[in-house]
Amino acid sequence: MIVEKAGTLGFCFGVKRAINIVRQVAQEQGGIETLGPLVHNQQVLQELAGIGVRIAKDVADIKGNTVVISAHGIGQQVEKEIRAQNIQMIDTTCPFVRRLQLAARKLAESGFFVIIYGASDHTEVKATLGWANNRGIAALDAGLIARMDDLPRWLGILSQTTRVPAQFTEFVRNIIDATFTRDSELRVIDTICHDIRKRQADALELAKKVDLMLVIGDRESANTNRLAELCATATSTHLLETAADIQPSCLEGQSYIGITAGASTSERTIDEVITRLEAL
Ligand code: SF4
Repeated sequence: MIVEKAGTLGFCFGVKRAINIVRQVAQEQGGIETLGPLVHNQQVLQELAGIGVRIAKDVADIKGNTVVISAHGIGQQVEKEIRAQNIQMIDTTCPFVRRLQLAARKLAESGFFVIIYGASDHTEVKATLGWANNRGIAALDAGLIARMDDLPRWLGILSQTTRVPAQFTEFVRNIIDATFTRDSELRVIDTICHDIRKRQADALELAKKVDLMLVIGDRESANTNRLAELCATATSTHLLETAADIQPSCLEGQSYIGITAGASTSERTIDEVITRLEAL
């Protein structure tokens, strides 16, 4: 059996940076709180809990006087609430997410109604709508936008950082089709993260060669789910959270296996999956 890893996999730049900052602060201060989970990955969160990292559910749940903001960022209203309570912030918002937030603010300030191609319940998307002063909407279905009776004429379209570029393009095309008859003015800004773009391209390239793709990551992780969907367009694909999820029956008759992993999956989890594959 041949096992091949995709060119880009595991921790992305933004997650690595956030985890390093939190590890260092937790070590120096004997523990720290994060506002919401730092990453969408249970194994990483367990490891952080082991060094004293506590997750505050919301601003009211922060017990100490310092809180870490995750790579997904927060909205400006939440930031105001934290400042009002004199709580210090250690901001690990990823630079790619900041670019999205600033684009949303600029569009809203210029009079555009902001449309984010993304999941409306995702932390990053909710925070970004906050940066647009809540003058916007998030959707994955362009039809939802097209059916809005009170849709403003000036529309600014952005993407959640972890979306698939081709699907974003399709979304934009559908919005154009649906809105041009309303004398609309559209501004589109490509805000997909460069790491995600590369990771998806590498995963797809590998998926086209192998018998089976294993995508390692948390089921709650948006970018992991996108990777699995993308690989499934090319070959048989399974999403695993840990090595324990490998079903030996899935490997029968498969001689070439490809591995990729979400941006919040640790190298240790990836190594454990490969070790188990070799053992099987
Ligand atoms: S996936 Fe991209 S945007 Fe998200 S944290 Fe990683 S580098 Fe930043």
